[in-house]
Amino acid sequence: MLIYAFLIIFESQTKYNRCGLTPFPMLQIKQFTFNPFQVNNYLLYDDTGECAIIDAATYEKHEKKELASFISDNKLKPVVQLFTHCHIDHMLGSRYISKTYKLKPLTHKDSLPFLENSKEYGKVFGFDVEKPVLPEEFIEDGDTVTFGNQELKVLHTPGHAAGSLCYYHEKQQFVIVGDVLFQGGVGRSDLPTGDHDLLIKSILQKLMTLPPETTVYPGHGPATTIEEEKSGNPFLTGVY
Ligand SMILES: [Zn+2]
Repeated sequence: MLIYAFLIIFESQTKYNRCGLTPFPMLQIKQFTFNPFQVNNYLLYDDTGECAIIDAATYEKHEKKELASFISDNKLKPVVQLFTHCHIDHMLGSRYISKTYKLKPLTHKDSLPFLENSKEYGKVFGFDVEKPVLPEEFIEDGDTVTFGNQELKVLHTPGHAAGSLCYYHEKQQFVIVGDVLFQGGVGRSDLPTGDHDLLIKSILQKLMTLPPETTVYPGHGPATTIEEEKSGNPFLTGVY
């Protein structure tokens, strides 16, 4: 009888998993698009409920509410706040995240001047930036960021902005790239610390060496793949 009961439980458990009905069986990616610059703000989470917030980009009150409601409705616990880079459109909501979830941001040390001067940069673009809580710890190329049962590999990819980082999830083969690479485009390099040759070098060395089927989630616009950009991105043709 006991064995029978065990088998039933085992079988139903197996079916449950096989049908994908387990809540959050794998890492989930929720994409929001916030502020007038239409920045993709990513939320990554798994069945532990722990989540990573990448590029806190909320600006308007209703955007903050939308993000917070998703987090509370799904019973998530933000445990890490990351930036792909610290141009103001990608960090407008950072202070809100730091205050609401008691999370200091984590970024590359070369990004620090952008955060320290964000109020001044904001004025240039007509934004009233809430001064971010500054990071106390930094990450760099080759580091691993963990949350829940997940691991993100940190790739240093300067060229669009100093301290640009991409986050690669090897198991599910995706990479979050900020403004380094877009569908059919690459990041601009005419802003302070931008360098086009360095950007192309970063893309070739750090992104184009990932498996071709890797999904690329950029800081603006739709997702693409490494394969698609390798073959069709006009900024990358002729540079191999
Ligand atoms: Zn940018």
